[in-house]
Amino acid sequence: GFGTGDTASVVAGPGGDAQVRSIQADDAAIQLAYASKVIIVPGYGLAAAQAQHAVAELANVLEARGVEVSYAIHPVAGRMPGHMNVLLAEANVPYPQLKEMDEINPEFPRADVALVIGANDVTNPAARRPGSAISGMPILDVDKAKSIIVVKRSMGHGYAGIDNELYADPKTSMYFADGKTAITEMTAAVKTLVA
Ligand code: NDP
Repeated sequence: GFGTGDTASVVAGPGGDAQVRSIQADDAAIQLAYASKVIIVPGYGLAAAQAQHAVAELANVLEARGVEVSYAIHPVAGRMPGHMNVLLAEANVPYPQLKEMDEINPEFPRADVALVIGANDVTNPAARRPGSAISGMPILDVDKAKSIIVVKRSMGHGYAGIDNELYADPKTSMYFADGKTAITEMTAAVKTLVA
């Protein structure tokens, strides 16, 4: 029953165009605050938004409520090797919360929420099929989570320049905003909720 169900856009999927659902801070905060396990998936947009300190604060607020929080680190997320590690280290994210792809992928089915912040190509299920620009690239299994919140500004493409089918998944809600603005709004909304 979460989410307002507003339709925002369409994305080309394997079965044709599909609707995309968008949400706001309050609904996102409810999903996060009452989750047992949240996996944060950072990408290039986190760096572009300079949202590393904001996301670290959100993680702290969630952990204080008893939510288990970890970060899924894809080897080519961002624009240089180790980009996400450098960014999150700058925000003093505890090292044990950072999990490399092979370690975190089996955990997605147990995650109540995968919170994707400015990551696109490294989450695109199209990589699992032949015929796309990213076919064969290992991806983070974000689509296996029970629900998915994607923070980005628009339906714009990532580096590979292709649509992301994850956005049309019925389990996915899109939070259209700058990464830092979105995370700051979500954190404020979580703080208003009773533990
Ligand atoms: P992507 O490049 O696939 O996507 C980044 C997303 O961030 C965009 O879709 C964009 O969407 C969003 N974004 C940009 N600015 C903001 C903002 N201010 N706030 C919120 N969102 C924002 O990133 P990934 O990290 O998923 O993947 C990296 C890609 O770069 C891969 O294709 C990889 O192969 C490639 N690459 C990586 C290198 C490396 O060494 N790491 C080197 C060279 C290439 P929107 O515009 O809608 O906000």
